[in-house]
Amino acid sequence: MLKNVLETLEKNRIFRRKVEHIETLNERQAHYGEVKDLPSSLQKYLQDSHIQLYQHQVEATELIRNGENVLITTPTASGKTLAFNLAIVETLSRDEEATALYIYPAKALANDQLNVLKHLESSCGLDFKPNIYDGDTPRNIRPWIKENSRLILTNPYMLHLIMGWHHQWSRFYKNLKYVVIDEAHHYRGVFGSNVAFLIRRLRRICNHYGSYPQFILSSATLANPDEFSRNLVGMSFQEVNQDTSPSGKKHFVLYNPFAKWGDLSTHQETKNLFQLMVTNDLQTLCFTVSRKMAEIIAMWTKKELNQTRPDLVNRITAYRSGYLAEERRKIEKGLKTGSLVGVTCTNALELGVDIGSLDCVIISGYPGTMISTWQQAGRAGRAENESMVIMVAFENALDQYLMKHPEFLFHKSHENAVIDLQNKKITQGHLMCAVKEMPLTVDDFEKYFEADYDTLEAIRQGGLVKETLIGLTYIGRNDPAMNISLDQISSDHFKVFHNKRLMETMDRQHAYSEAHEGAVLINQGETYTVDSFDLAKRTINVKKMDVDYHTQALKNVDVSIEKEISSRKIGNFSVSFGEVKVSQDFYKYKTMLYGKTLSTYNLDLPPLKYHTRGLWFTVPGLVQDTLENVFTKKDAYAGSLHGAEHALISMFPLLVLCDRFDIGGLSTNYHPETGKATIFIYDAYEGGIGLAEKAVEVMEKLVEVTRDMVKSCQCRKGCPTCIYSPKCGNDNKPLHKKGTIFILESIMKMMKGESVDLPTDITYDHRETITAPFKHPMVGAEGYQEFENPENLTRKGESFYLNGNNKEALTCFQKALKMDENNISALKYQGMILAEQDSHAKAIASFKKVLKKREDDAEALYYLAVSLHETGNYSNSKDASWKLIEKRGDWDDAWHVLAMALQALGDKEGAITAYRKALAINPLNEDAADKLNGILED
Ligand SMILES: [Zn+2]
Ligand SMILES: [Zn+2]
Repeated sequence: MLKNVLETLEKNRIFRRKVEHIETLNERQAHYGEVKDLPSSLQKYLQDSHIQLYQHQVEATELIRNGENVLITTPTASGKTLAFNLAIVETLSRDEEATALYIYPAKALANDQLNVLKHLESSCGLDFKPNIYDGDTPRNIRPWIKENSRLILTNPYMLHLIMGWHHQWSRFYKNLKYVVIDEAHHYRGVFGSNVAFLIRRLRRICNHYGSYPQFILSSATLANPDEFSRNLVGMSFQEVNQDTSPSGKKHFVLYNPFAKWGDLSTHQETKNLFQLMVTNDLQTLCFTVSRKMAEIIAMWTKKELNQTRPDLVNRITAYRSGYLAEERRKIEKGLKTGSLVGVTCTNALELGVDIGSLDCVIISGYPGTMISTWQQAGRAGRAENESMVIMVAFENALDQYLMKHPEFLFHKSHENAVIDLQNKKITQGHLMCAVKEMPLTVDDFEKYFEADYDTLEAIRQGGLVKETLIGLTYIGRNDPAMNISLDQISSDHFKVFHNKRLMETMDRQHAYSEAHEGAVLINQGETYTVDSFDLAKRTINVKKMDVDYHTQALKNVDVSIEKEISSRKIGNFSVSFGEVKVSQDFYKYKTMLYGKTLSTYNLDLPPLKYHTRGLWFTVPGLVQDTLENVFTKKDAYAGSLHGAEHALISMFPLLVLCDRFDIGGLSTNYHPETGKATIFIYDAYEGGIGLAEKAVEVMEKLVEVTRDMVKSCQCRKGCPTCIYSPKCGNDNKPLHKKGTIFILESIMKMMKGESVDLPTDITYDHRETITAPFKHPMVGAEGYQEFENPENLTRKGESFYLNGNNKEALTCFQKALKMDENNISALKYQGMILAEQDSHAKAIASFKKVLKKREDDAEALYYLAVSLHETGNYSNSKDASWKLIEKRGDWDDAWHVLAMALQALGDKEGAITAYRKALAINPLNEDAADKLNGILED
């Protein structure tokens, strides 16, 4: 049946044009191995469970036996758990005192693992008493666990709180042989930096009790495994990354509703695909971005199946409530017995919940990271059977980029997980906890914490510690661990309450921009509106509300450079990194529907200032001169810088794991400290979290993917898929798409050590012969002859045209056309100039000539439609517009000119629809907005 579906996707008219790419991942044979000298109990367990070990499990076991720290990065379903459990349980069986600590980022994962370990314990006839010790562990059994358990599962939050009581755990620490950090890729950003210091505190305590545990990390594939594991633990690791488990053939389909001019939403396309799968008897799991969407897609599908396949209606369900065990078991059972054929769920399900494997997985919307994408995709493929994964794109920069660049998904990982050890606030907090745990000497400080001496000095000055003969000791009254949250940097955070229950906490800058009074806040895909914002108490109350509009806070931003820490030279380009001060003044917010402003409100918030770390680079005067020469439109230069800033930020998460709201930016024509046009990109967290610093390292790739993304976007003047930012403090003004591409390409050239060239693609960008000396300083009078050909004349004419000299331009084009009457660019420009001079009849003739040569030339169609309109030829203008829309339904101008024709022909309804379509594509098309308002007011 999979064959059926593949064929449909490849051949059926409805689906075919939206399939951007199908990657076939070939089946893989298993490689088995054997671990020598396992205790008989474990040997028997493997035999009884019919487990034959894979080579990578053997490799991991041997490395652990050899005393190495091991990082396992094979995929989720490859038997990672057994790869480390084997060696650990072996030690626990040989040494009756030995203990192990397993750290999980989420409770559900620890629960699943506990069951595995208990089963292992009883099957082997061993006794190491695995137990979970976390916030849910009943008080009355806690002392028993501390005294008896030899394998404890916990989470970082709990560990953070109990480390101060290490005396009660001396038996456990003294005998600690292994620390397992499972799903380690979760520890990145603010959380990761906090956990990195937590692990350092743990190592110091263990060493104090005389134990030197080995660390075992399991993680998704990363671009920087060595650096990541080193930063998280402070030790070096051996990596096991070859997956030797078997797998069936997998077809990975990239499906883009917006490939041609899309008429269905991503959600509707998802529903259609889901239906296609289940009616072909393929058991399917469909991941959606929100719970609401999961429910709606299940509901829509059932509704349609009611007509066509009523037998399937009750075999489809949405996976609803969090991690309720009962619900999970029901769905798990339904899938295993085959009574369920389709389940829709949110991304939350990717985390550890065991629902087995299916025939097909639909990923509706890029989940934000490759890690999540592959984890979700990993649900497809039962045993060695063939399976299918379909990713359906949304209309944003990242989704669209991946649709056009499948190699990014299928080749080596480009994602860097960043753990920053430089944030002073985080470091100081954990140093204070360390001092409370046991006196801290300078030796300890150097050995474990690898931090700046400033931070040590700062806590010395804080008044809560005292210098003694055995090191710094804590004299405060409160437990510092209670004041430090592993998810936050400063203690200056706001609590967001829903129905009096804490929903989330956020720092001040995110509270101001995302959760101000009147804001629409999105939490796990659900929408909430902010009811009250209490600045003094730092509390925010929200209520759940299904709204279709969103809000955007407007702000004035200022960035000043405090200290340049480093500067990286790449060819002729250089990028600086350092400490910056960000000042933000949130003065207004807008409510918006599909990019259209509904209303504007003032905000009354005090200015916000914070210190962070960021990168910046200047744009050389040469680029500015060229750009201003070529693009004479007002604000073109500022718009180009601004577009480049937005686009770089939107692609940032592809290389450095984070959300685009974790970073901020500023672009300016002139920055007083650099004296030049400058673009800043900084971490939106007090003290920084290492994101911009990592971006400096991967700058070449970042600029390249950004250029590719903007260039491959099919819009003309910029759109939400390329250079618009959903959270722009300047309301996405000004923006200039071609200039953005020019700046990015100039940077790429400078990085390669080449000189900045002129834009090259004549039908798209604009070339100019006047500035040719930049490239060919040798071209003088003697070289002029070779420029006298139609192409060079056209280029020259173009530059005259762009500089407003229509007369000279026309001469050039006419000269060019004399040499080659079919020179399409010259014909087009000639027509454009004639149209500007109101010689529409002649212009129309030019455009028709172009179209005779190249019937799908969209620009010619557009200008033809405009000229026809200008001459009152509305019906022909309408026909031309429709033709244009067939080619370029993604141009707002196409819909705009159609709307004008329809309006002139008296088709009011049609005109309104077309204006709306134009505005949906480009909300900044003010002309269309005015005309639409004009009709609506009639
Ligand atoms: Zn675009
Ligand atoms: Zn902006």
